Amino acid sequence: ENFFESTLKKESGESENILRPKYFVDFPGQDQVKERLSIFVEAAKMRDEAMGHFILSGPPGLGKTTLAYIVANERGKGIKTSSGPVLEKPGDLAGLLTSLTDGDILFIDEIHRLPIAIEEYLYSAMEDFFIDIMIDQGVGARSVRLNIPKFTLVGATTRLGLCSAPLRSRCQHVHRLEYYSPEELGRIVKRSSELIKCEMDHQASDEVAGRSRGTPRIANNLLHWVRDYAQVKADGFVTLELANKALNMLNIDSNGLDEMDKKILKTIAFNFECGPVGIKNIAVSVGEEVGTLEEVYEPYLIQEGYLVRTQTGRVISRKTKQMLGVQENQSNEQ
Ligand code: ATP
Repeated sequence: ENFFESTLKKESGESENILRPKYFVDFPGQDQVKERLSIFVEAAKMRDEAMGHFILSGPPGLGKTTLAYIVANERGKGIKTSSGPVLEKPGDLAGLLTSLTDGDILFIDEIHRLPIAIEEYLYSAMEDFFIDIMIDQGVGARSVRLNIPKFTLVGATTRLGLCSAPLRSRCQHVHRLEYYSPEELGRIVKRSSELIKCEMDHQASDEVAGRSRGTPRIANNLLHWVRDYAQVKADGFVTLELANKALNMLNIDSNGLDEMDKKILKTIAFNFECGPVGIKNIAVSVGEEVGTLEEVYEPYLIQEGYLVRTQTGRVISRKTKQMLGVQENQSNEQ
């Protein structure tokens, strides 16, 4: 498993909490989403109501969880969190819902992975703020209706397409998070470096930002690595040269592509004559699941112009061919 993969999957624990911005002003990037959410919060505050339910969608590590916490803070309400695959029984959800107070947020990560029975159970809670729970078993079993506080459901998903229509229709908004620009990531790295007391110059923080695949979580993890490296190999101050050495050691190239990104592009280039090729074939060749390719790898490669999705399959762009040294006439024209 390469560095990016472990970084994308793992929560890095304590440090993630320290680095997590608490208010909109500390959160660089996602300007449109922030603006819409802050109006949404203000209006709810003015009317002293619970906000409508909403979904945050986008690739891992872009700040969905962080934004949910920020919204709760800005609204001055509490937040409880859970995740789709963890909620197995209606009782799990009932326990969470009854622990909330008016206006609180219930954050469900990976909401597209909620079991269908739980999702259906959630509908009455979202719409009319009640749930039916079963008391006793066997002949004495009966259903009791329980009113629950007026909460706000915030669902996070990496795969909006897998969220059911009934769930989406019960949400007031869907906000899509985008990959961050190098400039925005630069601000995040600067902020994080001050918080973890890592001294570095401007060029070094820009270098870390530029190699972070548009993703704050990766930026923060690379920053920790660069700090370790500078501490052990030098006096702790991170210069551009040190940052480069540290990052090269992790095989992160200067375009910010990781090993799987490059494997995907090379597979299309050399095994499939630059495409078009179907996603299933790519998945088999690189040994990764179709879903992961679609939700984690492709969006970035497409946004950065390395990969193009056509009706007949994926093809690599001219930029990729140049990067890989593929002759134009060796491949299908693109
Ligand atoms: P996942 O879906 O994988 O849980 P996520 O989209 O919920 O990811 P977060 O957990 O919110 O992502 O963010 C990952 C890390 O990146 C956190 O440490 C958070 O502090 C940091 N982060 C995310 N967005 C920003 C930002 N705009 N500014 C500063 N730090 C950020």
